Amino acid sequence: MNELRADAARIDPSGPTNPAGWRLEHSYAELPGIFHVATRPSPARTSSLLVLNRALAAELGLEADVLAKPASADWFTGHALPPGAEPLAQAYAGHQFGGFTMLGDGRALLLGEQITPSGSRFDVQLKGAGRTPFSRRGDGRAALGPMLREYLVSEAMHALGIPTTRSLAVATTGESVRRETPLDGAVLTRVASSHLRVGTFEFAAARGSVEDLAALVEYTRRRHYPEIDAGEGAALALLRAVSARQARLIAQWLLVGFVHGVMNTDNMALSGETIDYGPCAFLDEYDPARAFSSIDLDGRYAYGRQPAIAQWNLARFAEALLPLLAPAESTAIELAQGVLAEFPGQFEGHWRAGMRAKLGLVDEAPGDADLISDLLRWMHRTEADFANTFAAFCQPDGVPEGVDPAWLAAYRRRLAEQSVSPAESLALRRAHNPAIIPRNHLVEAALTAAVQERDLAPLQRLHTALARPFEHDSAPAEFRQPAGPASRAYRTFCGT
Ligand code: AMP
Ligand code: MG
Repeated sequence: MNELRADAARIDPSGPTNPAGWRLEHSYAELPGIFHVATRPSPARTSSLLVLNRALAAELGLEADVLAKPASADWFTGHALPPGAEPLAQAYAGHQFGGFTMLGDGRALLLGEQITPSGSRFDVQLKGAGRTPFSRRGDGRAALGPMLREYLVSEAMHALGIPTTRSLAVATTGESVRRETPLDGAVLTRVASSHLRVGTFEFAAARGSVEDLAALVEYTRRRHYPEIDAGEGAALALLRAVSARQARLIAQWLLVGFVHGVMNTDNMALSGETIDYGPCAFLDEYDPARAFSSIDLDGRYAYGRQPAIAQWNLARFAEALLPLLAPAESTAIELAQGVLAEFPGQFEGHWRAGMRAKLGLVDEAPGDADLISDLLRWMHRTEADFANTFAAFCQPDGVPEGVDPAWLAAYRRRLAEQSVSPAESLALRRAHNPAIIPRNHLVEAALTAAVQERDLAPLQRLHTALARPFEHDSAPAEFRQPAGPASRAYRTFCGT
């Protein structure tokens, strides 16, 4: 964020009227009017702050002690606005399960962009703060369970070193939201590098002028890719840069067994952050065809399909950009196809490098691809637990129980040929194989206690453990057990 400079003079964060440290700016509101609608949050019956992310507050330059005061809780339900907030709903479209739809923030409001002490800019968004002009038939509200789930899993992803939106707080509204049964209403305060999505560009292409589209390209460039030169060539360079970040992100997901679950184009962020934790889950036993979402019946968004789907989404991004890629459409298509064709190789490169690191291989050798695929084949055949198979490599001379002796012999030979010490190889494995991930059954148990009994202790305990996923010697054993056969039937729900 070098180019969109903070207007430091406008707000005095140390002033007596703003002890919490809010420094909200509104660069998004300067985009053409079709991209946003000023919208006030709906009042809450009561506001009660349930979880506050103190570490994130500090990174944002916010005073956690002030945020935690009962009087501040209204900020986190949208009942009152923090100083400088100018809430708006963002317009966007998207391909949902392959079909194009007009969407927009139906239950989320951007309060503004918080300028951190180091000058970075982060969207502060309330999710579940009431109806907006984009709500269609939805109530604009969110239920407590899904908001706590996003809080827990997004923070776990961050701790795993995977780019993601973050979660500052969850507050209850004192109202119930009608789903299949009445549920406690809650609001999540989401923090993101931005909420620009592939779907924002699809919206611009469908509803806006070429000037609107160009304004969006320029905004995205300045906000996320300032290394790209403005003007002619920016749109193509943006496509290339966004693809490169997605290739890396999807590889990171696969390397920890993450299944996003609803990779619609409106849920793909141009910043390269993981966004929208609805029906997401983590693999227990390794199975590339595993999908968890109750609405993903044909496995469109299954674990192993995520790279292909990302590329499909990027093709929708490219289509939206076509008018800016070249004056002649045929040239534009050719240029776009050239960039899209690089995606599989880029993904593969990141994924392979990550797999080598998981196996403690510091360099590259001709047989590595086979070594990796043979291990995965064995894991698939024996229904081995994904995380624990790799965590087994994190003890000196550790190997997964029951692993194919022929494979093991080849692996040991390969390790012995390396030029680094066994200790260095072990350190590499320990840094790339988490001891703890947010296993589905652990997340569910923590949420059940929080939602049904208002007992937040299990959630806090899990959150604390997930904050240090690579501490192999101290990771609590209770969080390392797979769920067992019951997990095969595990299903997730969108939770809207
Ligand atoms: P999501 O599945 O969360 O990515 O949301 C897809 C679309 O549905 C977005 O336009 C949301 O704003 C909208 N939406 C989801 N839940 C609600 C709700 N309870 N009320 C209104 N709109 C919603
Ligand atoms: Mg979404």
